[in-house]
Amino acid sequence: MAVAEELFSVAGQVVLVSGGSRGIGRAIAEGFAQRGSRVFISSRNPETLQTAVAEMEESGNPVESVLCDVSEEDRIDEAVRQVLDTAGQIDTLVNVAGVNRRKRAEAVTTEDYDFIMDTNLRGAFLLSRAVGRHMIERRGGVQINIESLNTWMPLKGVLPYAMSKFGMQGMTRALALEWGRHGIRVNSLAPGFILTDLTRKLWSDETMQEWNSANAPLGRLGTPEDMVGTAIFLASQASAFMTGQTLYVDGGFSSGWSWPIPLD
Ligand code: NAP
Repeated sequence: MAVAEELFSVAGQVVLVSGGSRGIGRAIAEGFAQRGSRVFISSRNPETLQTAVAEMEESGNPVESVLCDVSEEDRIDEAVRQVLDTAGQIDTLVNVAGVNRRKRAEAVTTEDYDFIMDTNLRGAFLLSRAVGRHMIERRGGVQINIESLNTWMPLKGVLPYAMSKFGMQGMTRALALEWGRHGIRVNSLAPGFILTDLTRKLWSDETMQEWNSANAPLGRLGTPEDMVGTAIFLASQASAFMTGQTLYVDGGFSSGWSWPIPLD
C-alpha cells in the first residue's frame, strides 16, 4: 500500500456502527465497507437492518448485522458479545443511533425526555462502556460519537435533543481523558443539516429551504455521504494524535453568523 493511502487506511478493521441501518450511520457503514473494513451495523428494527444488509451486499459492500436497541441495556452487552464472538475484536465503534422530537420546551413530556435521552445519551454511554472494556483489554481502539451542530449552538424547539448532544460532547472529552492511556481515542463528529429520514419533513418546508439557501456558507444541505470522509479520518492513523475533539461537518454553519448587513 502506498504511504499516503496507508495513513488513511481502515482496511482490515472491525467496525461496529450503531444506527447503521439508515441515514448517516448507513452511509458511514458503507464507507468503511468500501475501504476494506469488516462492518457490523446495528439498529432496533430487524426489517430496516435486513434491507440495509441486502442493499449493501448488492452494491458490492457487504456488511453484517446485529439487532440492538441501544435503549435496552441487556441487549447492548449481548450485541457486543455477538460481534466479538464472530469477529474476535472491535477496532472502531461509531455511536450513531439517535432520535428527536421537536416541540416547545414547556410541552416536552417526561416520556419524550426519556425516549430521547435513553437512545442518544444513555444508549451511547452503555455501548461506549461495553466496547471500551474490550478496547481496554486489547489496549487500543477508536470511538466516534455523532453529536450535532446543536453542541455549537442549540436550536429552538429541540431541548432534550440538544441536552443529549451536549452530554455526548462531555462524554467524548471525559472518555478521551480516561482512556487515552489505554490507547483508545474518542472523538466526535457534529453533522450540520443532513437530509435523512430524521429531517426530511423539516426540510420539505419551503421556508426552511429558503433559510438554508440564504444562510448555509456552502449553500446546500448535507448528504449522509458527506459524513464519510471525516469518519474514516478519525478511525485511521491520520488522526493518531487527536482525541477528545469535535469536528463540525456542517457546510460551514459553525464558522459564524450570517446577518442581513447591506454590502456593496
Ligand atoms: P435516521 O435517518 O433517522 O437514522 C437513525 C438511525 O438510528 C437508524 O438506523 C435507526 O434504526 C437508529 N436508531 C434509532 N433509535 C435507535 C435505538 N434505540 N437503538 C438502535 N438504533 C436506533 O437519522 P440520521 O439523520 O441519520 O441521524 C443519525 C445520527 O446523526 C443521530 O444521532 C442524529 O442525532 C445525528 N444528527 C443528524 C443530523 C441530521 O441533520 N440528519 C444532524 C446532526 C446530528 P431503526 O432502523 O431501528 O429505526
